[in-house]
Amino acid sequence: TVTVAIIDTGIDTTHSDLKDSIWVNEDEIPGDGIDNDGNGYVDDVNGWNFVSNSNEICTGEEDSHGTHGAGTIAAAWNNGGIAGITDSTHVKLMVLKALGGSEGKGSPESVIEAIKYAEANGADICNLSFGSDNCTPEFEAAIRDSKMLFVVAAGNGNQYQIGYDIDKSPVYPASLPYDNVITVGNLLFNGHLDESSNYGATSVDLAAPGTYILSTIPGDSYAYMSGTSMAAPMVTGAAALIYSARTDLSLQDIKTAILSTVHKLAPLKGKTATGGMLDVSAAIKWTKN
Ligand code: CA
Ligand code: CA
Repeated sequence: TVTVAIIDTGIDTTHSDLKDSIWVNEDEIPGDGIDNDGNGYVDDVNGWNFVSNSNEICTGEEDSHGTHGAGTIAAAWNNGGIAGITDSTHVKLMVLKALGGSEGKGSPESVIEAIKYAEANGADICNLSFGSDNCTPEFEAAIRDSKMLFVVAAGNGNQYQIGYDIDKSPVYPASLPYDNVITVGNLLFNGHLDESSNYGATSVDLAAPGTYILSTIPGDSYAYMSGTSMAAPMVTGAAALIYSARTDLSLQDIKTAILSTVHKLAPLKGKTATGGMLDVSAAIKWTKN
């Protein structure tokens, strides 16, 4: 199985559509107050809360955003509710809460710490459904120097929710130019980017569905949510599915598989680097050639 780190709000790990898909730190004995694996985190069985510096990774309603993305990536396939792009037989989700409060804010330091935790504890792919106008050299370095593949949301426009060109007005980490980053815009069902989706012929690699996406939320429930935060997990799930079938490939190959097989759409030309939308089936076929 492939390990996907979700650096976001927390995730409701008890949700019936998610409970089997959650990463378990096998080297940690739960609840004994001891850091059994000596990784610096006590009782980190499924991940860590970098906001409150604790092992409490679901704090309730404020964790809707991360729980929603988790369902898109890996909700159970035979459980009613929804189905993820992949499921627990192929992927495990490492829960890294770095965003909190009613507005889901986080500090660069928390995110950097979460990235380092993810890599040190065996994550392959990392979903980052957030962005900021500001970036620090330390934050850039944490992504640049990581061996993980990052799938990043392009962002949801300005204060009026009108998408803008992040080649000209960068958003981080979406605009970072590194080979281990895939940036995703929000595709509307009419084949255009959603009006709110940021774009960029260099910075935004492809688009994936992100508007009116039904997925899991805390309390064993479901809700529709919209934005590039919902589009990025589609690509993360695809990357995890493909990588789980072909772990002999490099994560760079997985990126190439996804980007070289997009379904081209005229409205995405000039707004994304590939001019297309995610095509999971075509990406899987690419890896078989
Ligand atoms: Ca530990
Ligand atoms: Ca322990």
